[in-house]
Amino acid sequence: MEITAAVARGAHVPFSLETVTLEDPRPGEVLVRIVATGVCHTDLVTKSVFPPELPIVVGHEGAGIVERVGSEVTGIAPGDHVLLTYASCGDCPRCAAGTPSYCENFVILNTSGGRSDFTSALSKDGERVMGAFFGQSSFASYALVPARTIVVVDEDVDLVATAPFGCGVQTGAGAVTNVMRPGPDDSLAIFGVGGVGMAALMAARAIGVGTIVAVDLSAERLAVAKELGADVTIDGAAEDVVAQVIAATGGGAHFALDTTALNPVIAKGLEALRPLGTLVLVGLGEATMEVEIGHLTGNGKAIRGCIEGSVDPQQFIPQLLAWHREGKFPIEKISKVYPFAQINDAVADAERGSTIKPILILP
Ligand SMILES: [Zn+2]
Ligand SMILES: [Zn+2]
Repeated sequence: MEITAAVARGAHVPFSLETVTLEDPRPGEVLVRIVATGVCHTDLVTKSVFPPELPIVVGHEGAGIVERVGSEVTGIAPGDHVLLTYASCGDCPRCAAGTPSYCENFVILNTSGGRSDFTSALSKDGERVMGAFFGQSSFASYALVPARTIVVVDEDVDLVATAPFGCGVQTGAGAVTNVMRPGPDDSLAIFGVGGVGMAALMAARAIGVGTIVAVDLSAERLAVAKELGADVTIDGAAEDVVAQVIAATGGGAHFALDTTALNPVIAKGLEALRPLGTLVLVGLGEATMEVEIGHLTGNGKAIRGCIEGSVDPQQFIPQLLAWHREGKFPIEKISKVYPFAQINDAVADAERGSTIKPILILP
């Protein structure tokens, strides 16, 4: 079928809305009409820094309505409202253990630009267009999605507001609730309150973490963080950031989250922990890290990373939806909605930092 997609053709070339051809669903695939899609940092990095192959259709925070299902798909039917998440194989030991974000086939299925057999479902006038990005390529009017990438939701779920739950939101929220698991007497310092950091903050508030500190360079973002329940906000440019976190948490944070992937910030996150504290890394950026080992050996601190919040989306997205319904996860406070045709404006606003989480609405 013919669909409209935002095609990425190069780092410095804006997304272009083009008519492309989408194959029919294979037996295990589902055709989803995209209603809305979040724009995630990974989409922009993939377009501008390391595309697997061009042209490509990215987008991986899709939400929509099922149009058709492949012959082997069970439990999903046309008309179902769905949120899309990352892809996993379902067969490897890590998928079997309930940790699908560490799927052995994660890279092939999510960021290779093709299916597991390297085919793409997209083409234009016979030219191959890469797709299958996170099992979706949701910057398009329709997407072909493996059944495991789909979370069926109730019809009253706001598909526009909750579109980002399947990646950026679960990444930040899961890092707190699944990896750190802080309690009411614990403190958490979040370094970088973009979309992922704000999601971590909302989750920390939802589960009742004792003290939440937000650190960022932007006064506007810190104001939003305060509104979302940060107890203390700190200007990341201040010379004494570490001392301020230590003071705000009564001796150092129990947990710190780094969303920036910048070495100087990671070093501060580690330093701002109290002994036995844990720093969790979720950012995509610098490839290596230099830290003072004494923090680990002398103070029992730990550094660990996680991807997609280490969550199983089939379990975790319903939890996020329940919080959203109860008003405990006000994603609307950090998002801005754009018509699909204004995708390049949304990207520019995200890169400038004037929009924390852009969401595109399909016509
Ligand atoms: Zn797997
Ligand atoms: Zn993402």
